[in-house]
Amino acid sequence: MSAPDRDDYPPLPPMTTGPAGKCPRCGQGSIFKGFISLKERCEVCGLDLTFADAADGPAFFVMLVASVPILGIVLWLVLGVGVSYWLTAILAIPLIAIFAVLPIRPVKGWLVSSQYFHKAEQGKLDTEQN
Ligand SMILES: [Zn+2]
Repeated sequence: MSAPDRDDYPPLPPMTTGPAGKCPRCGQGSIFKGFISLKERCEVCGLDLTFADAADGPAFFVMLVASVPILGIVLWLVLGVGVSYWLTAILAIPLIAIFAVLPIRPVKGWLVSSQYFHKAEQGKLDTEQN
């Protein structure tokens, strides 16, 4: 009996498995062992997850989207409402946690699932001479 192959499973869209933190191949096992750290393999199908390298992609996408509402709310508090700088700084901490930290995990899951779904990998040079 051989290890399950990629073709033994139907392709699962990254938007269904990734944000839930499920395995991109079987859709059952979890890919996370911590908040954003990945397991080495899926406990259900045995998929080797060492291929996954989202790098700083999740942080980039989350900050790209989160910076607009956070900045808008902070500017509204300071310029519109007239809240002091210290109170604004204290209020901004939970805003950053909500808009910037919490989405990191589902975005990382989506990027890892997309990497598997689209068979993304490091670029390779074609060394064969034609
Ligand atoms: Zn799996």
